[in-house]
This record gives sequence, structure tokens and C-alpha cells, in this order.
Amino acid sequence: MKDLTNLSLLEQIDGLNSKEFSSVEITSSYIEKIEEQNKILNCFISLNENALEEAKKSDSKIAKNKANTMEGIPIAHKDIFCIKDQKTTCGSKMLENFISPYSSTVYEKLFNSGTVNLGKTNMDEFAMGSSNETSFYGNVLNPIDHERVPGGSSGGSAAAVAARLCSFATGTDTGGSIRQPAAFCGITGIKPTYGRVSRWGMIAFASSLDQGGIFANSALDAAIALENISGFDKKDSTSLNKKVPSFFNEASSTNKDHIVGIPRSIIENIKDSEVKNNFYDSVEILEKSGIKTKEIDLKNIEFSLPVYYVIAPAECSANLSRYDGVRFGHRCENPKNLEDLYARSRAEGFGEEVKKRILIGTYCLSAGYYDAYYIKAQKVRNLIKESFVNAFKEVSSVMMPTTANVSFKQNSIQDPVEMYEQDIYTIPANLAGLPAISIPSGKINNLPLGIQFIGNYLNEGNILNLSNLFQQNTNFHNE
Ligand code: GLN
Repeated sequence: MKDLTNLSLLEQIDGLNSKEFSSVEITSSYIEKIEEQNKILNCFISLNENALEEAKKSDSKIAKNKANTMEGIPIAHKDIFCIKDQKTTCGSKMLENFISPYSSTVYEKLFNSGTVNLGKTNMDEFAMGSSNETSFYGNVLNPIDHERVPGGSSGGSAAAVAARLCSFATGTDTGGSIRQPAAFCGITGIKPTYGRVSRWGMIAFASSLDQGGIFANSALDAAIALENISGFDKKDSTSLNKKVPSFFNEASSTNKDHIVGIPRSIIENIKDSEVKNNFYDSVEILEKSGIKTKEIDLKNIEFSLPVYYVIAPAECSANLSRYDGVRFGHRCENPKNLEDLYARSRAEGFGEEVKKRILIGTYCLSAGYYDAYYIKAQKVRNLIKESFVNAFKEVSSVMMPTTANVSFKQNSIQDPVEMYEQDIYTIPANLAGLPAISIPSGKINNLPLGIQFIGNYLNEGNILNLSNLFQQNTNFHNE
């Protein structure tokens, strides 16, 4: 029998509906592979014991012609999305025993679309990191080279999709956590417009930046999956009440009406010559397939990293104050008094990186420093947003590399600033709230690289279409 795990999402949907194979068959194939490979890759924190039961239910729905859009498709969820009555750890010891009393909207929507949940994927603790090395549950290995990191924070989801341990996976992106791991693992990852996907039940890191999205094997697969998690949710006050178009139709349309903006000074300043060459090669591929490009200036973009590392820690320090040993999470043994309970529960429950961010954030928000750091960062954030708004008067999308380098060796980056620099090209889209996608663009010494398209507000369809066009003219996403 053919390997069902190697089919695209579209082929899987077709095969299930035409009863060429069943959900139990495809789910079993993935479970077998997970049993064999997860011991090495460590991309799952927990597995769903009911996966085969869910697959059986899907098969009976298909038999009765009551199938939903993605009935019987086995997927994985980043362990940041709450699922009722299941463990949600967010990669932290703090939530090691947290059983969620409700489900996230993203999970619920995918469940209602008929998907089968294979399990929850590993991630950097509270989504803080770029290498999956801050997880309490151990490092995830990059399936392409086990000595290297899969990227982060959604490293488990990226590795699981790349190793074909699920059809597609959910992730979250606050500063690059979908796009950077997608690039490092050679797959497609999309973060939609801020507000497009509900944050309800998605454990908060930095609320004005966090956005759920999708890892898949192609832009078309990502389009189908993204369509199923998007839409207004009254439970999330920042959710956008906008109609969700058919991303699949938009992605697969033959319209070539693109003008892709190339931010000249950013590209000129790429330090790694192989990354630069790969970028120019990718531009050439687009131009040869009839896409127009145009040089643009994106002012103030160089301040994105410092702005992010004020705003994200500030919001994290507020969001993570709820883990106090009383209401949620880890509680220390035999506290002497209330203060001791707070202090020790937090000291024991959080890892180093999370503590560092809470300290930085609390500092930036404290009296006297609030104006100097936080308010100033918000002002510069607005300037960055403005640069994009101006750019979109001339172009339909902006193209950049996804990362400044290929995946690095486990435990090789010790300097925190060097780690933070991983997100130099991904953070601007989060600060501006714009949709952005990373797709594979080739390899350097057998390690994948990605290019990124940033779209205008609510125009996920445009960057999906451009990505699909690129993928029709290249084979990097199938290598
Ligand atoms: N790597 C960035 C950070 O550590 C982004 C993380 C994310 O997008 N969740 O904050």
C-alpha cells in the first residue's frame, strides 16, 4: 500500500472522500511513524490516546455522507492551545499538570472541521525562544539534521510536519515562531493578519503580537487549513469581524497581478552571502514566472528588534503574573507564608528564559522607565506600521528572507542577543499586525532556507497565491 503520510492535504481529503482509504488507515500510519520517530525527534509532549477513536467516528461520518471539510485528517496542535480535559503545558514546568477546563477556538474549529488530533507538540517555554531549547520537556531535533535545532518557538509542530508525522499542524507566531521554524525545517508556515484567528484559549505570551497559524507542506495545504481556523470570535476582543474568503480559491487562482516589494537597504545589508544569493535567486524565479518586482524603502525597520524586546517582555510580565501558585500552575511544597508561596512557586515553575523576560518586562513597565522604554517603543512601533502602510501604496506584498542563517547546532548559541537576532526579518510583520508566510527557497549544504512574503492587512490570499506560484515553478517544498 502507498505511504499515506506522504500525500498532500488535498490528496488526503480526496482519498478519504472517495473512500480510497480510511481515516483509521491514515491515522494508524501516522501513529506508527510517531512511535518510531518521536523517541528521537521529541516533537510531541503528549499523544492523544483517542486518536483512533476519533478516526473511526470520522470514517462513519464519511460513510454516511456527513463529512466535514477536513473529515478524518490527522493533525497536531502546538501545546499552547487548550483542549478541554487534556493536558496543556505550554512547554513549562509551571503547567506540567494543568488540565484545561475549556478548549481554544482554534482547536474547536479544527475539531468541528473533522480533523483527528494526534497530540500536542513541543515548544519553547511559553513560546519564548527561537530554537526549542527552552522547553521544560527537552530539545526537539531538526528532522533534516539531528544535530541542529528545528527553530522555535513552534519547533515541535515544524519538525512533526517536516518528518510527516501529521498532515499539518497549528502554531503561534509572536515574533516569528511559525515562519522561522518553517524555514529551518524546509516547510511552509503562515501567520495571518493579527485578529484573523481567535486567541481564545491560546495561552498568552504577548497579547498584541500573538497570532495563531499553520504549518503545512505547501501553500495550498496551508490555505485550506488556515481557512478552517480563521474567523470572528466574540470571545476574543481583538478578533476581526471580517468575512473569511476562500483562501484556497485565492491561492490557486491564476492571477499574476502582483507587484512584489524588495526592501533594498535590508537586502543589501544581509550579512551571509549565501542567504543573499538565495534571496536574489528567488527574486529571479518570481520574475521569470511573470511577477513584477519593485524596490522599496522601509523606514525604521531596523528598530524592530529593540522595539519587540521591550513590548513583548512587558506584555509577558503582565500575562504571566497569573501563575502565582494559587490560581494556576505549579505550587511549591510547604510554603511558609503567602509571599513565600508566590516567590517559590514562580521560582520553581519558570525556566531561565521566562524569568529573564519577566524581569526585563517588569523593569520596562515600572515608574520612571515606562515613558523611557515602553511608551517610546509603542511610538516606534507605529512608525514601523506606517512604513508598511506607505509601501502597500506601491506594492502588493513585501519580500524578505525568513532568517539570516540556516538552522544552527543544538546548544551553540549562548549569547541571548545573538538568539534574539534570529527574528530580525520576522518581527516587523508582528509589530505591524500583517500576514506573512515563509516558504522553502532552496538549501545551503543540505540545510533548508526560506523566503518570506508579507501581505497587506487581511490579504492572506495574495501571499498564499504568490507562494503557490513560486511552488508551482520550483520543487524546494517537495525535497
Ligand atoms: N523568538 C521570538 C522570541 O523569543 C519569537 C517567539 C514567538 O514568536 N513566539 O520571543
